[in-house]
Order: sequence, then structure tokens, then C-alpha cells
Amino acid sequence: MTKPMIGIAPGTVVVDSQMFPGRKRDYVNREFLQSITDNGGIPLVLPVTMDEAAIARYVQLIDGLLLCGGHDVAPFTYGEEAQPKLGGIDPERDAYEIALIKATHAAHKPVLGICRGVQILNACYGGTIYQDVSYMPAGQGTLKHMQGQLAAYGMHNVTVTSGSTLAGYLGQTHLAVNSFHHQTLHKVAPGFKPVATASDQVIEAIESTTDGLQLGVQWHPEMMQQSDPVEAQLFGGFVAACAH
Ligand code: MN
Repeated sequence: MTKPMIGIAPGTVVVDSQMFPGRKRDYVNREFLQSITDNGGIPLVLPVTMDEAAIARYVQLIDGLLLCGGHDVAPFTYGEEAQPKLGGIDPERDAYEIALIKATHAAHKPVLGICRGVQILNACYGGTIYQDVSYMPAGQGTLKHMQGQLAAYGMHNVTVTSGSTLAGYLGQTHLAVNSFHHQTLHKVAPGFKPVATASDQVIEAIESTTDGLQLGVQWHPEMMQQSDPVEAQLFGGFVAACAH
């Protein structure tokens, strides 16, 4: 059987040291690539571009799309002004990923967003984001969501909606996940539903209501999947969905 080709939208970084400081670089942490190869797919990194013809060709080449972690989504993307605790943004990356998500969906190919990936997926379709977890209403967002170390280990529990695509991939509805996010989803985009939440009301995953083919998680399964079979099944389920 031919392995599915999974497109990966890279992160961006401005190199501030080394021989050529100040230059922008497209990069992908090896764990994202490894998570695809470990679970039946072939990763293909898709460099940032705003060339519509290039994006259309990318989508022809791939069977599914993986969105990685990184910058905060620019608040203008979801109709808000920047608040003091907003982190670093890259509007060029936002615009590229939104165009790529829409083109991939138009071709009926699955999307998996991770961390920033679930946030840009939500913003792409009209959802909003708390620019920092501390901006949630009093009593919410009280768990530790930035664990800072030992990324292979879960930091807080999530409850996954029974019958969701995500539950089907994971094979269970209660699990501990790692947590490396200072922002959280606020309003879920029309056409999407929350499918995993933490006990402090933080939304930890969403998926498209019609078919679950567009799915995002707030945690980092790519840093857990080599030691945690449940997180490996998340990638395995996604790659299998891309094979159809
Ligand atoms: Mn979390």
C-alpha cells in the first residue's frame, strides 16, 4: 500500500545569532516529522508562500495536512486588538496557513492541528482565542498549562467526547496530556465543536462537526507518542484517515 503523504506547514524563526543574523528561517522540529514516519505516513514540509498556484500544487501533492506549534496567532486574524500578554506573532505565517487550511479542506483532505495549529484552525473559521490563559473568566484556566519541561509526560487530564473522531483515534476518553500553551481557545468557530476539555474549562481539542476531518489538539502529542501508545494512535488514526 502506498503510504499517505502528509504536508507539514513549518514554523518560522528569525535567526539572531550564527553567521547571518536577522534572517528568517522555515523549520520543523524533528518530532513532528518522526510522528508521521513512526505511524505510517511520509512527511513533506511545505515552505511558507503566498503564491496561490504553489499552495494549490502543495494540496495536490498531499493526502493530509499537519499544522505545527509556534507563534501566537495575530489578534487581527480573529478581530481583536493586541493585549499586553500576547506573545510573538508572524502575520505572514498566519496568512499562509489559513490559505493552506482552506485549500486542503476544499480538496476534502484531513487536517490535524497541534498547539498553535488548533488555534489557527479555530481562527481560520471565525473562532477566537484568549490571548493569555489569565484572561479567562475568574475560576477558569487555573491548571498549569505551561509545564516547561519533561514534555513526554502528561501535566493535566483531559476528558474527550465519546463518539468524536478524536476519541476514535485515541481509543479512550480520559488521558493525561502535556501542556505548553499560554493561550487557549475562546469562542469555538462555527462548524466546530469542543471534543476535549480540561477540568478548568480550557478547551483542549476541537473538530469539525460534519466529518471530524478537521481536528486540532492543544497539547503536543508529537513529544509523547514515542513513549505513549495512546498519543501514537492519534497520529496513526490521522494518517489512516488521510489514506482514504
Ligand atoms: Mn493544557
